[in-house]
Amino acid sequence: MNLHKLIKASPLSPDFSEKEFEIDLPSKCPLCDTAYGEIPLKNYYISNYSEEFLYSLFFCPHCHQCFIVKYSVFSVSCNFPDNGVIDSIYPKSLHTTDFPEQIKQLSPQFVKIYHQAELAETAGLTEICGIGYRKALEFLIKDYAIHKNPDAAEEIKNKPLVKCIEQYITADSITTLAKRSAWIGNDETHYVRKHETLDFTDMKSFIEAAQYFISMDLVVEKAASISPK
Ligand SMILES: [Zn+2]
Repeated sequence: MNLHKLIKASPLSPDFSEKEFEIDLPSKCPLCDTAYGEIPLKNYYISNYSEEFLYSLFFCPHCHQCFIVKYSVFSVSCNFPDNGVIDSIYPKSLHTTDFPEQIKQLSPQFVKIYHQAELAETAGLTEICGIGYRKALEFLIKDYAIHKNPDAAEEIKNKPLVKCIEQYITADSITTLAKRSAWIGNDETHYVRKHETLDFTDMKSFIEAAQYFISMDLVVEKAASISPK
């Protein structure tokens, strides 16, 4: 839940006067990802025609860096201060998912591509991030399949992704999910396909499931290799 605070802002246009706003506070710092509840240091607003925006400068006591929040302003009633709703935060968060050590070792390429897709998503590049997540998934599954079957490496590299999932991921729930997903089924071309505009959050959920399965299998494999027979 967002915290609301009453703040005073200076005008950026010379004809306007100082004004109060009720704003949502950002819940975490975009630079260090730490929970955050500070009030802004400085606030400026600008009105042009029908729109009004508020810019607030925040200081994070955890990482000692500043960031700016742009607010869209809505008037509630003439008896109350206008409301500021978070529109965007600068700089954008560069936080990326931290994967378990066994996944990082199995497929550094998966981790690299996944992180790039996440950054594309943060930047609002939703068409590109879908393709990125799809590519990351392919590396994860194929690197895992090759790890389990090193002799079949060449064959695995050329096999459609959905076939690799069917053959090498032995959790029924995951293979069923994969077969139902149009975005996994089509490997034939890199030309823009309809399903790539599908909600990529489905793909992220699938990657999460596959990643848990693979992680667990690798942990079991490692434990089995070091325990005495
Ligand atoms: Zn910070």
